[in-house]
Amino acid sequence: MINVDPAELDKFSELAHRWWDPHSEFKPLHDINPLRVDYIDSLVGLEGKRVLDVGCGGGILSEAMVRRGAQVTGIDLGEKGLKVAQLHLLESGLSVEYRHVSAEQIALEQPGYYDVVTCMELLEHVPDPASTVRACAQLARPAGWCIFATINRTPKAYLFAIIGAEYVLKLLPKGTHDYSKLVRPSELARYCRDAALDTRVTIGMSYNPIYKKYSLGNDVAVNYILCAQKAGAR
Ligand code: SAH
Repeated sequence: MINVDPAELDKFSELAHRWWDPHSEFKPLHDINPLRVDYIDSLVGLEGKRVLDVGCGGGILSEAMVRRGAQVTGIDLGEKGLKVAQLHLLESGLSVEYRHVSAEQIALEQPGYYDVVTCMELLEHVPDPASTVRACAQLARPAGWCIFATINRTPKAYLFAIIGAEYVLKLLPKGTHDYSKLVRPSELARYCRDAALDTRVTIGMSYNPIYKKYSLGNDVAVNYILCAQKAGAR
């Protein structure tokens, strides 16, 4: 059985044509992109690295990592997002290999192939996040990195990421996130441990609605990034 919820793919497909519009429903992804790419780059040094971007959508993160000198493959199960990603390469002139394949499937084809696996804003949309984490771990080389970003399951996340972002500020369409599917850092760290990944850092990503700015910090109660390293020597 394939680890996907078709209703989740539909949510993104319906909006896919607006993926690169920085004022669209994807504005939050555009806004956090420089922050997260800087963070990943400072942690792993993207220049010359082989990177797999799992759940790449329209390619906002994939392209930004190519600009930092990485060789990037982007995978997603949403066909429309992938088409948009492919088309956008004509505009940017960059090179990314996009494929319509699940993380579990490509893990069978290319185990241990990637220096870095990014999986951002995806785990909260899949039926079995532990399986996605296992696949990411299989794809990373020994001592390679897996970098996950998702939303915590806390009252504060319910208030900010769902009520605040979807209903009050209307940054995201209603129903984008389902509270019960959110993943706590402790759960993600356990999935990592079970997949032979060592969690190295967990950092929070917060939105200040007054200044309309995102920043990284200690507060992991809403959005957070967890960076884990695969066991073994290079
Ligand atoms: N990672 C990108 C896009 C996040 S949006 C970024 O942060 O910029 C979430 C993406 O996950 C969408 O493109 C959606 O099609 C994809 N997705 C949802 N369920 C999936 C699954 N089970 N397997 C792969 N991709 C999935």
